[in-house]
Amino acid sequence: MSKLKIALQKSGRLSEKSVALLEECGLKFPNGGGKLITESSNFPVEILFLRDDDIPQYVEQKVAHIGIIGENVLLESRKDISISEKLNFSGCRLSLAVPKEIDYEGLSYFNGRKIATTYPNILSGYLAENGISATVEVISGSVEIAPGIGLSDGICDIVSSGSTLLSNGLREVDSVLRSQAVMVSNKNLDPEIQLILDRLLFRIRAVRKAKENKYILLNSPNGRLEEIIRILPGMNSPTILPLAKEGWSSLHSVISEEKFWEIIDELKEAGAEGILVVPIEKMIL
Ligand code: ATP
Ligand code: ZN
Repeated sequence: MSKLKIALQKSGRLSEKSVALLEECGLKFPNGGGKLITESSNFPVEILFLRDDDIPQYVEQKVAHIGIIGENVLLESRKDISISEKLNFSGCRLSLAVPKEIDYEGLSYFNGRKIATTYPNILSGYLAENGISATVEVISGSVEIAPGIGLSDGICDIVSSGSTLLSNGLREVDSVLRSQAVMVSNKNLDPEIQLILDRLLFRIRAVRKAKENKYILLNSPNGRLEEIIRILPGMNSPTILPLAKEGWSSLHSVISEEKFWEIIDELKEAGAEGILVVPIEKMIL
């Protein structure tokens, strides 16, 4: 029987979350022990653990059918593969930074100057788009030390919190790209492989929906039910059950985590009591 081959980063910032995502989708597989290839015991997939930079090429060549990488690595690779799903983790940005004492007044600062990066393709494209003519110094790591050792005037590198930049005396001055983890796919999958991928994507979406939403239970005086239902954002009609206590009802609904924090005060003012917000494990719509 055919198996969907999935390439994951072997060890690095994407590894743990990639494995966790597949596990949350109900896939059981041995993980750890340094194995490079493993199989799931309950879903037709084979998992390959690789360096993230190699994944686009392997997916293009169908060594793996799909993979999980950062959008930054996908765009830098210029491989002809597609994004089947954005995964909402490992968010970061690719940014330009200069030594903090530089009086930076805009991108034109880089005209005629040198920028060190491990992302020459993305950076060159960005500079061209903005009409900047700078020299791109390609290095393979420790980009943030380049200005300090006189290799370049600025850098273009991945930033998440910015603390690495600060501790190297650099200041972020422009953002070139926003990135997150994505599932990439070969563009010509055989139908039976595509079917397995569709099943996996269905599970991934159910897991994500569940994470974005919470189950909310609250008690409301019957007289204020309508008001409370109005406060709860655009939900399907909530479940209402009578409480043993005369004149009160229990209301159950699903609410996005974000919305919950926005309306919690309104709910309390409207007389809601005993508000419980509980996680949802899977959500199929
Ligand atoms: P490999 O050994 O597999 O080549 P790597 O060192 O290139 O690993 P990591 O540092 O593990 O890669 O980062 C993997 C991805 O995680 C990045 O390509 C990026 O999309 C994302 N990421 C999120 N935050 C950060 C960060 N602060 N620094 C670097 N990458 C980050
Ligand atoms: Zn890498």
